[in-house]
Amino acid sequence: MDLNFLGCGSAFNPLYGNTSAYFTNKDQLYVIDGGESVFLKLYQKELLKKYAGITIMVTHMHADHVGSLPSIISYCYYVLGKKVTVIYPEKSLWILLGLMGIDPDIYIPVESSLFTAEGLKVWAVSVKHADDISCFGYIIEFAGEKIYYSGDSYEIPKDVLDGFYKREISTIYQDTTEFTSDHRSHCPLEELEECIPADLRRNVFCMHFTTDFTEKLKKKGFGYIQGNCR
Ligand SMILES: [Zn+2]
Repeated sequence: MDLNFLGCGSAFNPLYGNTSAYFTNKDQLYVIDGGESVFLKLYQKELLKKYAGITIMVTHMHADHVGSLPSIISYCYYVLGKKVTVIYPEKSLWILLGLMGIDPDIYIPVESSLFTAEGLKVWAVSVKHADDISCFGYIIEFAGEKIYYSGDSYEIPKDVLDGFYKREISTIYQDTTEFTSDHRSHCPLEELEECIPADLRRNVFCMHFTTDFTEKLKKKGFGYIQGNCR
C-alpha cells in the first residue's frame, strides 16, 4: 500500500508542510496526524467532502501533529455533517480537544491501541520522542500488506525492526534527521544506516525534514517523501 503525503516537514520547516499522510478504502479516508497545515491541505484537495467516513490516527500532541485537528473536527461536523473518528491510545487527547472547545459529542474518540475497520487493522506502538510527552507509531495492515509509520521517534522499536527484517512489515516511514545531536527526538540518519541493511533501504522512506538532505538519502539508498507535499 502506498501512503499519500500532505506534508513532510518538521515543526520548524513550515514550507514543507507538517508531516501527515493519508490513504483511502472505498468511501473511507484515513489520515495520520492533523498538524497546523493539514486542514488547509485536506480542504484544498476536497478530501473531507469527498469521503463519507473520516478517521484520523494521531501520533502525539505536538502542534505540528495536532494543530489543526480541532478545526478539522468542527468543520466536518458543523459544515459537512460528519463525525470524524479519532484514534489515540490515551485519554489526554480528548482532554486537549475539550480545552480547545471541541465537544466530545461532535467526534468519535477511539481510545485504544488496536483499531479495526473493513479490510484494515491498525496497532499503535509506543515510541521514544520526547521525555514529557507520549508518542506512538502505527502499524497498518491493509490490502494484505503491513506498513509502519513512525510518528516522531528517535528509534525504531525492536519488534518493528524484527518484523521488517522478516519482511512481515513491508515498508517503514521513519522520522529522520540529518544530524546526530545530544537532544534526542528524531532518528539520526547515521543510526538509521546502522539498523537498516543496504538491500532493504529502498523500503524505508524518510520524512519529517528540517533540512533538505535528499542527495545523501539517495546516495545511501533510502527512500524519502517529496513531491506534491512540498
Ligand atoms: Zn514531535
